[in-house]
Amino acid sequence: MNGIIPYGKQSIDENDIRAVVEVLRSAWITQGPLVDEFEVRVADYCGAKYGVAFNSGTSALHGALFAAGIKPGDEVITTPLSFLATANAAVYLGARPVFVDINQDNYCLDISRIEVAMTARTRAIIPVDYAGYPVDMERIIEIARRHDLLVIEDAAHALGARRDGQILGSQADMTMLSFHPVKHITTGEGGMILCNDEEYYRRLKLFRSHGITREPDCLERNDGSWYYEMQELGYNYRITDIQCALGLSQLKKLDAFLGRRRQIASLYDEVLGKLDWVKTPLSPPLGSSHAYHLYPLLLDPSIDRKKFYDYMRSRNIGVQVHYIPIHLQPYYHKMFGYRAGNFPLAEDFYAREISLPIFPDLSQEEQAYVIDAIKTSKV
Ligand SMILES: *Cc1c(COP(=O)(O)O)cnc(C)c1O
Repeated sequence: MNGIIPYGKQSIDENDIRAVVEVLRSAWITQGPLVDEFEVRVADYCGAKYGVAFNSGTSALHGALFAAGIKPGDEVITTPLSFLATANAAVYLGARPVFVDINQDNYCLDISRIEVAMTARTRAIIPVDYAGYPVDMERIIEIARRHDLLVIEDAAHALGARRDGQILGSQADMTMLSFHPVKHITTGEGGMILCNDEEYYRRLKLFRSHGITREPDCLERNDGSWYYEMQELGYNYRITDIQCALGLSQLKKLDAFLGRRRQIASLYDEVLGKLDWVKTPLSPPLGSSHAYHLYPLLLDPSIDRKKFYDYMRSRNIGVQVHYIPIHLQPYYHKMFGYRAGNFPLAEDFYAREISLPIFPDLSQEEQAYVIDAIKTSKV
């Protein structure tokens, strides 16, 4: 093999490049018509009423928690098995992330532990569709409604996944997507919040751009057509037309990208499922589908994961580990007192997990090479 096979990467073709260059030759390169168009197209695809695009998935999640009214002292319930941004978004607003351990079958948060973790300060639940497995949102929403909590789905791994026949994006109060290059479609950096509620939509747009509005109906007074008001403390979290041109071009290929990811996963399932020292990821129930942002392979406890990782790397296979549980980070110990032993299932998963290469441009030859390396490993 020439060069390293990464665990994930973008697929960019000449149409993508042409779309971006076209914007560079146009009058608008930042907040032009393509931001709106990208929002409408992604929201349509996911069956949501509104989409608000941000300059990253992280800033989008920050916006969602702001729109949800999360304040200092509040608590949000989430999983320790995610990228840091999931929990950090709550910390940005002065809230405390309260973790619940994972479900050993699908590696998403264990829904049966949510109510145990609730306090009078709990305001929201942030489930993560780990690796692209759609969480059982119906059960989560049922719990949330009973306790008057909001549900913000971190679907950074799950664009295009189906839950009970429906592409996810309209079931939770708000749903976050990421367009980082390793995700399903990319804008370079970028993210989006999907929602059906007009008030969230309005607050997300305020937050994205300094808390400023020019909408005549929303102003306290109006000095003239130059006039704007800052009504909340917002940020500059805007995405650009350059990025959205890329996103729109990528969106046309999303179904093909997903198809290829599922094909790769199904070959891994078939071949690696026969090995007695690994566990392949669970397939969702009938009517639902996985989006396979990651292909997390779980090694038997008798295997030395570090040796296996180093061996795969020595074969030029860019395996990764997803994730170091958030509660084990020094910052989370220092600020919130979390420590090793708090979430034993997530910690055990972390000790044994390895993410195999999965991305649309992974060739059959490359996948065969990865499979052969695993089968012939002697670690
Ligand atoms: C990628 C990712 C994010 C953050 O998205 P960015 O676009 O990189 O800011 C948040 N949560 C999860 C689970 C992710 O994988």
